[in-house]
Amino acid sequence: MKNDMSRRFHTRVITNIIFSTIFACLVDLFLVTNLSMLGEYAVKQGREGSLEAVFYHPDSIIVLLYVLAGIATFSITFLLLQRSSMNYITSLSNAIRNISEGDLNTTVEVVGDDEFAAMAANLNKMVEDIRRLMEKERESERTKNELITNVAHDLRTPLTSIIGYLELLSGPTELPRELEKKYMDITYTKAKRLEKLIEDLFGFTKLNYGKVSMKIGKVDIVKLLSQLLEEFYPNFMDKNLAYELQSNVPAKIINADGNLLARLFDNLINNAIKYGAEGKRIVVKIHATDTIVTISVTNFGYVIPKDELPLIFDKFYRVEQSRSTNTGGTGLGLAIARNIVDMHGGIIGVTSDLNGTVFTVRLQVDFDINKENFGKLGE
Ligand code: ATP
Ligand code: MG
Repeated sequence: MKNDMSRRFHTRVITNIIFSTIFACLVDLFLVTNLSMLGEYAVKQGREGSLEAVFYHPDSIIVLLYVLAGIATFSITFLLLQRSSMNYITSLSNAIRNISEGDLNTTVEVVGDDEFAAMAANLNKMVEDIRRLMEKERESERTKNELITNVAHDLRTPLTSIIGYLELLSGPTELPRELEKKYMDITYTKAKRLEKLIEDLFGFTKLNYGKVSMKIGKVDIVKLLSQLLEEFYPNFMDKNLAYELQSNVPAKIINADGNLLARLFDNLINNAIKYGAEGKRIVVKIHATDTIVTISVTNFGYVIPKDELPLIFDKFYRVEQSRSTNTGGTGLGLAIARNIVDMHGGIIGVTSDLNGTVFTVRLQVDFDINKENFGKLGE
């Protein structure tokens, strides 16, 4: 392809040289014939000493003049024929100068299909890449600022009430024992909330900035989920919820980071308990094939509005209803979950209607961190 292009450019230059040479020869021939005829006519008229008569017996100076006329004709013709290429090179060089001065809106028109056209196309692509990179950089800066603002806000809220209750407890007025206990309980709950918030933030920033190194091993996904559900037993009891684990296989070994997967499903089950308390039951289903494992966590009751569904995986996003009801939460759980799924080259999705809110995770059985794993799950 590249050779083809350079041949195309060379061919054009060679054609232009040949054309200019032929044209210069024709002009020279025209000059020689006409001037000689003019000279001959002058000699016949007996004007031997006139200027025209010189061309009848051309000497070396006249020959030199013919040669110079030929060279001049050749040069002018060649330059005229090459003009479009020269203009294109100038526009390319101007574009490069503009880009180097920081004007990333510069584009060069791609004309023809020679090397210069390829250069222009590459230049346009390069500018586009730089623009995208800078946009990403700006976006990440924006996210960071947003994170800091949200963190400051979320840390301050529980902290203010902790300080308030501690002031009451350590104040000069003697409090009744029950009230003292109540204040201490509230302080403890708020402090726990702070601890969770900080843990979540740590987890999220670590995941987000790629500081977590994955430890891929063999994980029995059926065992992992049944253990997790058992650990949640007190929470199920607390909310009067029943749970079911359904699997089409008794065990399924996949390549994954067990700790990260535990964190992922911990978040999903936690949400199912928190937001599905009215639904009375939670269903976890595993469907394994040779290459893919699909895990779904379903809870019933509260339906997430359709327009909010795509947003719930964004960090700090909480559905309006959860914000107003007192479920507590940072809105980081699903962002962490999505990160973990991405790290495993998997897919996470959600549907929510009167038949339940279903979070579905698809993972590859033979996940290999060193290979391109994306797009293997179809969809
Ligand atoms: P965190 O998990 O950080 O403590 P959170 O639970 O509010 O806080 P996410 O887990 O990211 O944050 O969930 C985002 C929002 O999505 C929740 O606030 C809730 O509105 C909605 N949501 C998540 N899971 C469910 C679910 N199983 N059923 C209904 N709504 C849900
Ligand atoms: Mg959550």
